[in-house]
Amino acid sequence: MQNWEKNLREITPYVPGEQPDFPDMIKLNTNENPYPPAPGVAAMLKEMKTEKLSLYPNPCAKLLVNELSAQYKIAPERIFVGVGSDDVLGMIFMTCFCSDKPILFPDITYSFYDVWAKLFRVPYETVPLDKEFRIRKEDYRKENGGIILANPNAPTSIAEGLDFIEDIVQRNQDSVVVVDEAYIDFGGESALPLLDKYENLLVVQTFSKSRSMAGMRIGYAFGSERVISAIYAVRNSYNSYTMNYPSIMCGAEALKDREYFEECIGKVVATRERVKRELRELGFSFPDSKTNFLFVTHESVPAEELFTMLREHHIFVRYFKTPRIDNYLRITIGTDTQMNRLLEVLKGYLGKR
Ligand SMILES: *Cc1c(COP(=O)(O)O)cnc(C)c1O
Repeated sequence: MQNWEKNLREITPYVPGEQPDFPDMIKLNTNENPYPPAPGVAAMLKEMKTEKLSLYPNPCAKLLVNELSAQYKIAPERIFVGVGSDDVLGMIFMTCFCSDKPILFPDITYSFYDVWAKLFRVPYETVPLDKEFRIRKEDYRKENGGIILANPNAPTSIAEGLDFIEDIVQRNQDSVVVVDEAYIDFGGESALPLLDKYENLLVVQTFSKSRSMAGMRIGYAFGSERVISAIYAVRNSYNSYTMNYPSIMCGAEALKDREYFEECIGKVVATRERVKRELRELGFSFPDSKTNFLFVTHESVPAEELFTMLREHHIFVRYFKTPRIDNYLRITIGTDTQMNRLLEVLKGYLGKR
């Protein structure tokens, strides 16, 4: 080892789902939306003046923040936007989890949380989900330096109700409580109504799943003015221009088309409910998903075997080789055509085996 190498940061990074590129593939491994963004986004990209790209964008992404403010009826001062919710969450870890006490999050949840904790040197403690993969709210009644929960949780797909979330926020008013609502639009109950009651609450959402814009990288947080301004201060000490001009413009455009948004959600939810029934008939079981994915296990065939078999058919789903969930597959809800192909391949394989 060279001496300078001793100065390098060693960290095991988060590993996102693979982005394979086969013309015939069915990609159900990263919870993307199978439908295109709102038509206004395509129009915006066509009209966009390239001269604008020679200028720095508005550092506060004002246009996008104002549109979020109008849609969600929350003051602009209470909104932070970033490059996907991953960026927003990273900024929140840096800003809000500066206690010496450990932050708390479930043992099975979005696997980026422990990576950020390590990166930003935030002490943390994971709290086991129960046998049914449910969060136990009683476990969040101990001293902590902050709490982060995904609701609905990933990869379990389970949503908890507003009273459940409020119980945790209400009992933890000495720390910041973050609710990661990446999947909330697919049927969960948002914690947004609690914002006026609790200054220590942050609600984080994204354009990547329900708004079909994972490639644009837009995420946002709602919170009290106090906590939002603290996050901006940290962000502005690192990089003032995280949001690029096309993302600001297209994000604002997408928000205006509420009808299209609801139509896409409706299609994903209808497909999800049908696929639930069909998978059950094939011997799969799963928690009752309120997201755009299903977390399934089969009564007799190991998940890893199904994962490999599907992969050979160019059907990509997510498999986590980690304790407690290594016999589960996380399957994103695609179009009806994609899901029919998945079901057909599964039927064929299970029938022959
Ligand atoms: C997808 C996802 C995110 C991050 O999404 P972005 O694309 O960075 O907005 C955050 N949290 C959870 C639970 C997710 O599933």
